[in-house]
Amino acid sequence: MKNGDKTDCPHCGQSTIVREKIETEGWQVKDKVLICAFCGATLGHPEEENANGAPDDKNASSLSGLTALLGVEAQTASPRLDAIPEESKFCRDCVHYVAHPFLSRCELHHTQVNPMDDCPEFHRKPEPEN
Ligand SMILES: [Zn+2]
Repeated sequence: MKNGDKTDCPHCGQSTIVREKIETEGWQVKDKVLICAFCGATLGHPEEENANGAPDDKNASSLSGLTALLGVEAQTASPRLDAIPEESKFCRDCVHYVAHPFLSRCELHHTQVNPMDDCPEFHRKPEPEN
């Protein structure tokens, strides 16, 4: 499986397009995973391109299915929307916003966003409780 492949997602059941997602740790690329374009569930890891295409390694990749099962990301808790004033809906205040050193991402849409963007599916981050 690789970026752009069509597959049936075992998590949401949709006929989906595989998306490649790069996970970073600090400034370094930590891992590359394949996710479902609909529900964002991890589907596995990209297959390495087989340069020589040797036909004698048929039973080499039986682990990928297991990886897909174990790779499900934990769901984040739903935000509590109490009596919050309807003022700003900036991505930087959203639970789906993930700040990285060089780019910021929306974990809901799996796209790059700007901190001052606003979004119809904005969910305010819960205030930290002390
Ligand atoms: Zn899915």
